[in-house]
Amino acid sequence: MIILKGVSKQYGAIVAVQDVNLMIPSGSIYGIIGRSGAGKSTLLRIMSLLERPDTGEVYYGINGDERVDTLRGKELLMKRRKMGMIFQNFNLLGSRNVAGNIAYPLEIAGMSQKQINRRVDELLDMVQIEDKRNMRLRELSGGQKQRVAIARALAAKPEVLFCDEATSALDPKTTRSILNLLRDIHDQLKITVVLITHQMGVVRAICDDVMVFDDGRIVEGGTVKSVFTSPKTEAAKELVYA
Ligand code: ADP
Repeated sequence: MIILKGVSKQYGAIVAVQDVNLMIPSGSIYGIIGRSGAGKSTLLRIMSLLERPDTGEVYYGINGDERVDTLRGKELLMKRRKMGMIFQNFNLLGSRNVAGNIAYPLEIAGMSQKQINRRVDELLDMVQIEDKRNMRLRELSGGQKQRVAIARALAAKPEVLFCDEATSALDPKTTRSILNLLRDIHDQLKITVVLITHQMGVVRAICDDVMVFDDGRIVEGGTVKSVFTSPKTEAAKELVYA
């Protein structure tokens, strides 16, 4: 479970996140939706411990009682290895081929070459690109690149997979195939998936619960069905009826 208590973050005069309280249950697919500039990425960076909040607390753990925003040094590094992230622009290493990208976090974790090769094969199989093992990134389509990024994000067996606009650069058909893959992986690994997007269709296709973020605040939240069938705030209506 991930819990945020009174989390705020400011950049100079810009308040990106204001006093956010949130609980994300373990094993759920949780959507965070909002227009561009609402503060979603900032919230995700705080949740994934890439950034510290100015005020507030972040907790992990089965009972949500493991405080993590105060972690430093090696402990922070170990915790971060238990989180996977994927992004709109894939963030892959152009100098490495497909297998090399997936192997990268395993090399950093100090795994033996034999173990790495076995794990890379498992991951290629999981994201269904076994035949692309030795290809260069420039030979891949956007959807295939995102599959490589998903495999890399899952390499170290994370507890949470954070997706930051992961399908926003893809065409509708590829978006559907990546969302199906994410759902299959979620069902298979029982991993928690936190997904931020400005696309309502993405939330509708894959999320259990959703929260609408606007101007650095949660303005609405609940099951996808409840938010879709009766959006209450202007921000939610704008997204639902877009
Ligand atoms: P979203 O992901 O919803 O598009 P962001 O979290 O990226 O929103 O941004 C929220 C606000 O915070 C924006 O006004 C943005 O310009 C600002 N912001 C985000 N990150 C930084 C940063 N590192 N430095 C300065 N301003 C930032």
